[in-house]
Amino acid sequence: MSDHRAQAAAHDAADPLAPLREQFLLDDTVYLDGNSLGALPRTVPGRLADVIAREWGEMRIRSWTESGWWSAPERVGDRIAPLVGAAPGRVVVGDSTSINVFKAVVAGVRMAGRGCTEILVDATTFPTDGYIARSAARMTGLAVRPVEPARIADEVTERTALALVNHVDFRTGRLNDLPGITAALHSAGALAVWDLCHSAGALPVGLDAHGVDLAVGCTYKYLNGGPGAPAYLYVRESLQERFDSPLPGWNSHTEPFGMEPEYAPADGITRGRVGTPDILSLLALEAALDVWDGVAIEDVRAKSLALSDFFLDCVAGYVPAGRVRSRTPSEHRRRGSQVSLECADAGGVMAELTRRGVVGDFRHPDVLRFGFTPLYTSFADVERAARVLGEVLRERPDAGEDAG
Ligand SMILES: *Cc1c(COP(=O)(O)O)cnc(C)c1O
Repeated sequence: MSDHRAQAAAHDAADPLAPLREQFLLDDTVYLDGNSLGALPRTVPGRLADVIAREWGEMRIRSWTESGWWSAPERVGDRIAPLVGAAPGRVVVGDSTSINVFKAVVAGVRMAGRGCTEILVDATTFPTDGYIARSAARMTGLAVRPVEPARIADEVTERTALALVNHVDFRTGRLNDLPGITAALHSAGALAVWDLCHSAGALPVGLDAHGVDLAVGCTYKYLNGGPGAPAYLYVRESLQERFDSPLPGWNSHTEPFGMEPEYAPADGITRGRVGTPDILSLLALEAALDVWDGVAIEDVRAKSLALSDFFLDCVAGYVPAGRVRSRTPSEHRRRGSQVSLECADAGGVMAELTRRGVVGDFRHPDVLRFGFTPLYTSFADVERAARVLGEVLRERPDAGEDAG
């Protein structure tokens, strides 16, 4: 047995989260793409079958009250809240991340008030956030200025309404400094709006503790809610009264069944709702969240860092020198829960890895991305992924050398 294989076995034997893997439906492929689509928790199919056959099939309309469908957006929000460091009543689930970005940015501009002329957007953002921020800016008469997260503290001015920042960069896995950037924005009088898609469920976020104003995130990555599972919106408690939604639907009305022509917003986080929730996806997510019962996010973070450290170590051992270069920060406090390796013909290499049972993903133009989901990724998975990557690269011509 190689050194790395022996080390993987020792790490797995000592891993307190290792038993959680049994709660997911997995096969013998190495799945390192849970940061795009989380694996299926075993409790979900049975729960969803019951929702369909009994709650929908037999109870029909009664389920809105008797099965708790109506209040599910807030109830499931309260299940997500501890994972992102929020007290109950601050997170509501519904709609996609893109739509919640729109709600958060427009509501943030409305709260920021007169005199603000610009929105700062993470220059390295996931594209949808940038597109929506630009449209929201056009609608509210503000300008958009792209700024690197590390430069926000220097670039924010008294004319900045808010900054929209990704907590973890989806390309490189860089963890941005949420406490520091939030504090810098606040000291200039601007709001902090965070996109948690690649951090929630992988590392502690601390929304309440750091005074974050607004946040959004998706639930189908590290939270394993399933394809298209609804996203969530967080609104800081002291801002909820001023949260003026750009999408005021009947579900966020103070009297949804009053059918009033005039809109009057409900109190609290219910203001973040729009229309009829996507009940099947929402209840699949609720069942998927059971795997988090009794799990401390600090333990998840510790394992995530151990997995990415071990992966980099195995890559250094197995992959011929010079064939890949890590674009993920080596410092723990700057690293999310993935490793991105720059590699010639990354698309072709990932296709071959997948054929050999190692699933990560390829991000244009030259990145191999490997996501570590500590609830079900083992150290043996990580060792095998690096070993197969080494085999694949040794069999392929070195494009770098060909080019001289
Ligand atoms: C995955 C992801 C999204 C996805 O948005 P959808 O509306 O669910 O398609 C948005 N932002 C970031 C940072 C993401 O990583």
